[in-house]
Amino acid sequence: MSAEHEIGFENMPPNAAGGGVVEDKDDIEPWRAQFNKDIIAEAAKHPEIELIITDGEDKTEKQVADVENLIRQEVDALLISPKESAGLTGVVTQAIDAKIPVFVLDRNVETDKYAQFIGGDNTVIGKAASAGLLDKLKITLALTSETQGGLTSANGVATIPGRSAKRIIVNAHADGFFQGGDDNASGLAVLVGLARYFAKQPQPAHTLMFVASGGHHGPGNGPTSLVAAHPELKDGTVLILNLEHVAYADIVRGKVRAPDNIGMTWETSVTEAAKAVGVTNESPFLFDLWKRASRCYGVATYQSAGTTVSGDLGGYRPLNVPMTQMIQSGTFYHASGDVLEAVPAEGLERAARFHAFFLEQADQAPESLIAAGKGTPYQPIAKACP
Ligand SMILES: [Zn+2]
Repeated sequence: MSAEHEIGFENMPPNAAGGGVVEDKDDIEPWRAQFNKDIIAEAAKHPEIELIITDGEDKTEKQVADVENLIRQEVDALLISPKESAGLTGVVTQAIDAKIPVFVLDRNVETDKYAQFIGGDNTVIGKAASAGLLDKLKITLALTSETQGGLTSANGVATIPGRSAKRIIVNAHADGFFQGGDDNASGLAVLVGLARYFAKQPQPAHTLMFVASGGHHGPGNGPTSLVAAHPELKDGTVLILNLEHVAYADIVRGKVRAPDNIGMTWETSVTEAAKAVGVTNESPFLFDLWKRASRCYGVATYQSAGTTVSGDLGGYRPLNVPMTQMIQSGTFYHASGDVLEAVPAEGLERAARFHAFFLEQADQAPESLIAAGKGTPYQPIAKACP
């Protein structure tokens, strides 16, 4: 033994060969690499110390074997950052029984006979939080972002030719912020589902034009570009149906009242939030179809419907044809919480089934019913659900 003292350090990240400094890699936790760097730097200041770093490789068995080895080498002290508490308690106890002082880092073991535990105390942190101390804590975050220019976006268009060249446009924007689970993977999923469904049905009366529009969240704005590039769409477009944010998990008031009665907890529902229905020309026929959404397909909508069609339909306005949709911008709208998990599969299915019904009815109806504005005398279609 050359050095006066040997210190073993059992850590978790993949270790550079020969116990050198670990380079930061994506697949290791940087603070574990930092453990190694700091401890190597500190040991270098003490020539009497030999530092032996072993790498647990993210496996409890490997950590146990490493520590058994270090005990056999009769190290003078052992530092360990356990992968998990229970699995490492036995071998740590062995080291303690062998009179090796053990220093436990970050995650504890199920014995208190070690020399020292170094890590965050969640009880103290909890007490500090409830005493309001954490409110006084200042945290500075640095975020690096980059603006990229010269990017392009495109519209994807698929058409099912109908018996007539007159068309119904079904639109869904294909881009999103963050993961865009609801805004607008939900709308895009229903668009693709409808295109598949109608491709297998008998030829529709109208030509169905499915548009996956690009650039909704950027300067591209798909429908605006589409309409500008295809002035012929002004002729023969009967109706535009938009699919946007169609199935978003509802966030509802929970059962637990906050301690000083100032509010409630919040819970994620297993079903989707209600959506606002808009029909630009207030066609009584289209409103009548929308009434089936909740009653026949379990699609939650607001009780009152209006003329507002916010979202991607704005770009189609120059066509001056009836436009309709349901839309809801939920709690995690345009935020990192808009993930796949926030979109209930059942909600997607409900939306897809209803929109298939809606599109079939609109396709087969006399065009005058779609074009008829507010107040036009109208005989509701059969009340029974299909
Ligand atoms: Zn959207």
